Amino acid sequence: MKSAKEFMAEVIRKNPGEIEFHQAVDEVVQSLIPFIKKHPKYDEEKILERMTMPERILIFRVPWLDDDGEVQINTGYRVEMNSAIGPYKGGLRFHPSVNLGILKFLAFEQVFKNSLTTLPLGGGKGGADFDPKGKSNREVMKFCQSFMTELFRHIGENTDVPAGDIGVGSREIGYMFGQYKRLKNEFTGVLTGKGVNWGGSLIRPEATGYGCVYFVLEMLKTRKEPIEGKVCTVSGSGNVAQYTTEKLLELGAKVVTLSDSGGYIYKKSGLTEKDLRFVFELKNLRRGRISECAKALKGCTYTAGKRPWGIKCDIAFPSATQNEIDVKDAKKLLKNGCFCIGEGANMPTIPAAVKVFQDAKILYAPGKAANAGGVSTSGLEMSQNSIRSAWTREEVDKKLRRIKVNIHENCVKYGKQKDGYINYVDGSNIAGFVKVADAMIDQGIV
Ligand code: GLU
Repeated sequence: MKSAKEFMAEVIRKNPGEIEFHQAVDEVVQSLIPFIKKHPKYDEEKILERMTMPERILIFRVPWLDDDGEVQINTGYRVEMNSAIGPYKGGLRFHPSVNLGILKFLAFEQVFKNSLTTLPLGGGKGGADFDPKGKSNREVMKFCQSFMTELFRHIGENTDVPAGDIGVGSREIGYMFGQYKRLKNEFTGVLTGKGVNWGGSLIRPEATGYGCVYFVLEMLKTRKEPIEGKVCTVSGSGNVAQYTTEKLLELGAKVVTLSDSGGYIYKKSGLTEKDLRFVFELKNLRRGRISECAKALKGCTYTAGKRPWGIKCDIAFPSATQNEIDVKDAKKLLKNGCFCIGEGANMPTIPAAVKVFQDAKILYAPGKAANAGGVSTSGLEMSQNSIRSAWTREEVDKKLRRIKVNIHENCVKYGKQKDGYINYVDGSNIAGFVKVADAMIDQGIV
């Protein structure tokens, strides 16, 4: 059997320059090689080699006309990573940084995350290097329609079910759904994150943030720590950050920061419900910048060009984007007494910083475990679409809570070390892997 180093050398050779993909695979390989050594069937069937190669990648031109009548061209992608346990499932990201390496890392993580949810969901991810920021509604609509005009032939409720991610929210899902329906002449649950009055699930917008807090509650229980009164730093100010904050306030925790790519806001006494309503309106309706909070919210300061990790906290919720916590940030967090990290974003902590957290034996949950609530509720949305029914808020929330408790139990099952420390990275990687790997073995060499 190959060593982790040999395996990674091969991954790097086959996927040149895709640094985020290398990073995501390396983390999983470190957890899995020792496990596979004990279970040689996975090596004999070359499961890890197969799982690190997407089943299919689609790359396409997305031409559209801007409001000045000028032709614009973006690159569209869909990475269909693994369908061993269900149709490809995962979000679409619209952001200028989007490239194939980033989408492959996200699709790869999604396979493990989706497996952890216990629902029948394969893994995929897609998007475009389109920047919705500063675009008119009409421009966003034209882009979404052009994007779907190619993507529609590759997806379907039983094949591949995209959803939102950075830059793709209910507005974009709406435009893409409209175009899909028009092209196929079919009303199906081909996308999740739909509006509630046309097939969406209640709690789906809240689910990633709420789910992340539910997971942190389970982690805190292992140390008999309550959430009430805990000081929390949250990064980001999009969907995940907003609903993480909402749930934390409901549970009596104190949220002192939020951020966007321009900088972060800090309110020592903690954001109030009213402050949060302002942020909802600012980000979701006016699509403004977080810096506006400094003027609008009492006691709130804004620091440009920085992330919030220098602020004293008990729990940190990185909920913006990948690689937003480096070693320096990790050390600052520890020095300031932070003892728990709940990753709302995908891969927000660089590997060396993860090691800093684990060496200090703090509670650290990787994104694939902590933020799986979003895709779980997408899975619940698919179930409701299939049975042509809609569950109440309470029903969906209860199911979401149950799933997050399950994921935590699985992480403990596979990640508890001899000294009692729960290695959530190993736990989620191994638990996510086993289900997909066994299904791949059952289905033969495909
Ligand atoms: N983009 C989200 C994630 O990273 C949600 C995907 C989905 O709902 O399919 O898991």
